[in-house]
Amino acid sequence: MTKLVILDRDGVINEDSDAYVKTAEEWIPLPGSIEAISRLYKAGYTVVVATNQSGIGRGLFDLDDLEAMHAKLSDLLFNADTQLSGIFYCPHSPDDNCNCRKPAPGLLDAIADEFGIPLTGVPIVGDSLRDLQAGLSHQCTPILVRTGKGEKTEAKLPDQQDPALQQAPVFDDLSQAVDYLLATNNNTEKLP
Ligand SMILES: [Mg+2]
Ligand SMILES: [Zn+2]
Repeated sequence: MTKLVILDRDGVINEDSDAYVKTAEEWIPLPGSIEAISRLYKAGYTVVVATNQSGIGRGLFDLDDLEAMHAKLSDLLFNADTQLSGIFYCPHSPDDNCNCRKPAPGLLDAIADEFGIPLTGVPIVGDSLRDLQAGLSHQCTPILVRTGKGEKTEAKLPDQQDPALQQAPVFDDLSQAVDYLLATNNNTEKLP
């Protein structure tokens, strides 16, 4: 029996960059993020990533570069005796009008398909409004972190129409968000 949690990548697990994270060298973990994923994993959570990677669609880097970044992430997790159960990414640019670039629901649709469960109540941790908005399409529980773009996003929460966004819990970083998740264990959806 496992519990699911969905994480954004840039600005949550690794340092964000306005110039895009384009190489494994530029992919720098945020302090405590690897350990936070490890704590989720060891508490029985299935941890997946849902990430917009429009730098691919914009021609700034390619799938080999993305794989190299994720190999670096996997190595760091392996060294912490932990792992992700999937990295779901949107490679498109905004001009592509795809259904997977958050806040569109496509990545979450794919996660629900992959694990064969509804995502109702599943925590989705992000630093951008679009992460939390994507979660709403599946009735996920949105959680904001102040890393990455999070402080700017926090300032926008009071203006949101949806109460789940207005009242989303906000934490300094992924480690604090994981403290909260492990303390409340509020994801009651179990995988078979
Ligand atoms: Mg982000
Ligand atoms: Zn897409």
